[in-house]
Amino acid sequence: MNIILLLLSFFMLSETAVNESKWGQVGHYVTGELAEYYMTDTARERVKEILGDTSIQLSTVWMDDIRSDRRYDYTRTWHWVTIPDGMTYEDAEQDEGGDIIRALETLIAELKEGGLSAEEEQDKLKMVIHMVGDIHQPLHVGTGEDLGGNQVRVQWMGENSNLHRVWDTDIIMSLNMSYTELAKELKQRVKPEQIEEWQRATVRDWAYESMSYRARIYNLPENMRVGYEYRYHNLDIVFLRLSQAGIRMAGVLNEIYGE
Ligand SMILES: [Zn+2]
Repeated sequence: MNIILLLLSFFMLSETAVNESKWGQVGHYVTGELAEYYMTDTARERVKEILGDTSIQLSTVWMDDIRSDRRYDYTRTWHWVTIPDGMTYEDAEQDEGGDIIRALETLIAELKEGGLSAEEEQDKLKMVIHMVGDIHQPLHVGTGEDLGGNQVRVQWMGENSNLHRVWDTDIIMSLNMSYTELAKELKQRVKPEQIEEWQRATVRDWAYESMSYRARIYNLPENMRVGYEYRYHNLDIVFLRLSQAGIRMAGVLNEIYGE
């Protein structure tokens, strides 16, 4: 391999590594902001105690930060799950290192069970609030063909990007709103009856919902240039998924930490 190719593959890898996860930070903060609002007072107090000096908003992105910490290597594959079209989670080949569905189910159960050390409790809580956000980003439930859209190169408003990044970050950042402004915008769209309905769904339901948007997400123009028109046709999905993530995060935390 010549040096140019080597460099090129290095950059492609590092870009993939950076973009591989998460609603960009703003998306995660929005989910934390909504969760804090929809939590009961008891749960909110308890969560604050556990998190200490760090807000719930900032704590939502901690699980991306620990990618730089070897001690947490066991969580590397917990940001996504692969379920090919037409398959169920149970049918799909499961990652040995675990995936976002198994990790969420396990950690939520462990937090409910209790008896954890303070450090374990804080770690697991921060992981859960991150993964509730990730699993609602539709491309975190991947087809198995393109690393959750990371390998789908597109131009976003004339700049190089990829489909995963468009859904994590580009659409949200193009709104030019702070996370508190965006959360306020979303709150006023939520209908009271939706709260309980959304909170009744299971972790696996959340994943299947994410799969259900594939036809729309992959409906890309031939020249792979996306921007205002793509945003216009898909913003409702982004808004819905952020709202559901925040409200379900509140639901999970209410269940764990009290009514
Ligand atoms: Zn993530």
